[in-house]
Amino acid sequence: MKFTIVGGGFGGVKTALELSKHKHNHITLITDKPDFQYYPALYGTATGRSHLQSWVPLGQIFAGKFNIDVVIDKVKKVDPAKKTVTAESGNVYEYDNLIMALGSVTTYFGIEGLDHYAYGIKSESEINKLKHHLYQAMAEDREVEKEYVIIGGGPTGVELAASLGEYVRKLRKHHKLPHKRVGITLIEASPRLLPRMHPDTSKRVKAQLRKMGVDVLLEKKVESADADGLMVSGQPLKSHTIIWTSGVANNPFFAENAGHFELAKNGKVVVNQYMRTKDGIYVIGDNAFTPFSGLAQTALHDAMFVTRNITRRQFGKTLKKYRAVMPPVVVPIGDKWAAFEWKFIRLYGWPAVMLRKAADVVGYHEILPLGQALGVWNAQTIVEEDYFTPTPPAQD
Ligand SMILES: Cc1cc2nc3c(=O)[nH]c(=O)nc-3n(C[C@H](O)[C@H](O)[C@H](O)COP(=O)(O)OP(=O)(O)OC[C@H]3O[C@@H](n4cnc5c(N)ncnc54)[C@H](O)[C@@H]3O)c2cc1C
Repeated sequence: MKFTIVGGGFGGVKTALELSKHKHNHITLITDKPDFQYYPALYGTATGRSHLQSWVPLGQIFAGKFNIDVVIDKVKKVDPAKKTVTAESGNVYEYDNLIMALGSVTTYFGIEGLDHYAYGIKSESEINKLKHHLYQAMAEDREVEKEYVIIGGGPTGVELAASLGEYVRKLRKHHKLPHKRVGITLIEASPRLLPRMHPDTSKRVKAQLRKMGVDVLLEKKVESADADGLMVSGQPLKSHTIIWTSGVANNPFFAENAGHFELAKNGKVVVNQYMRTKDGIYVIGDNAFTPFSGLAQTALHDAMFVTRNITRRQFGKTLKKYRAVMPPVVVPIGDKWAAFEWKFIRLYGWPAVMLRKAADVVGYHEILPLGQALGVWNAQTIVEEDYFTPTPPAQD
């Protein structure tokens, strides 16, 4: 049987690997990047840890999988009547069975200037731009920023806030700049950090960040950004290093092809109990309107659900209905402290750090054999080769 998967992230890669276990299946994976991105590690790479933990070549993941073809292209259109997808290259790909896992994109909620003046950490090129900016400011302009500003008090924002200070301090020392307080400010619009987690976790994380010297501004709204900084709830905040970690929206592909998809209020695709649309397209991971959409573990869960049902169908068995499963969440605050939550269980400090380490091994092992997964996981302890003098980012 032939399968076409669009998206080489958690959902797409896992689906391809599972389907490839049956030799009679042939899989074409169309994706716009040659690497798989392990998002949970990006804040580490943005603050000087090895990139090997954050992006894994698809060629490595699919080595020896002779029934998987990878095509690098960006899909723009779907035509369910003709069973084709059309890509940016102009190529038209026919499909028998289509599985879509395109992930989310960053949105700036229309806040003036942010798209131009804020840095991001969602991709290799965004991370390279940020690191090069930090380097340029210190090595060439001989300046240490008074205030490094992170917008968004979700998991990515707090993880980054906890590790950015140490990175900046090391850069400053390396470039022999005068000793100065490194100010890290974290801005969140809601009354507490990590609004999707338990209030006790929010409180402890805030206390932990404050101990590390991070200024936490709650209930503050970023109104605009320009070359000198931000307007935050009517007050100017000077900074040339603004990092946006907030604002996630569904991939625009679905709105651009809205005639073929029913979209929920948050822009995600409404799927039936078998994760299919009215046209029989499977939509999984961040793209699907499910209770725990937006987490890597949900994308993996969806991939397993869909492939198991496909196999059941191939063997004439009854299909199972989708059941959402609440994944555990671990948020590291530096190397020595983390917060863990799962259902009614909450753990803080070292036990949570150990759980995060274990979760990362499991995460890498979802897409790589154990030996390679441990190798990539170990890269978390490696300092990036260009730690102090990052290579200039490629032009987009
Ligand atoms: C910085 C950051 C940190 C995160 N940390 C965590 C965490 O700690 N724990 C957790 O559970 N979740 C975390 N998440 C969320 C998690 O990464 C996502 O929920 C997960 O990646 C969703 O998987 P997916 O397969 O739906 O999409 P993705 O993994 O995003 O994969 C989508 C793929 O599709 C490709 N693509 C996009 N558009 C097209 C197109 N038009 N044509 C072809 N290919 C396309 C993309 O390049 C990408 O390869 C984090 C997210 C971010 C951004």
